[in-house]
Amino acid sequence: MGKEYPFLEDTLGKKLEAGTSLSVYCLICKRTALLDVYELVRRFGPDQPCQHWDLLKIIYCHECRAAGRDDRNLQFTNHAVTPEQGRRNPSP
Ligand SMILES: [Zn+2]
Repeated sequence: MGKEYPFLEDTLGKKLEAGTSLSVYCLICKRTALLDVYELVRRFGPDQPCQHWDLLKIIYCHECRAAGRDDRNLQFTNHAVTPEQGRRNPSP
C-alpha cells in the first residue's frame, strides 16, 4: 500500500495506450456512463489532455443539457484495464 497513481496518463493518447478506461458520473441526474477512450481520441486527438478540468471542457451530460440543467456537474473516474476489456481490435 502507499502510493496512489491518480491520472498517470495525462492525455487521451496515453490513456488509450495504457488501456485504461474512464467513466463519467453526473451528480445531477445520477447517471454513470463509460466513456469510449478510443472514440475520444478519434474526436479530439491523442494530445487532448484528460485531467478533470480538461474533460469538463469537452464532455457534458446530454440528459441535463437537453433538460436545460447545468450539464457540467460531472465526476470522472479512471478504471484500470481488465483482462476482459483488453485491447480493442480496430475494425478494418
Ligand atoms: Zn445529468
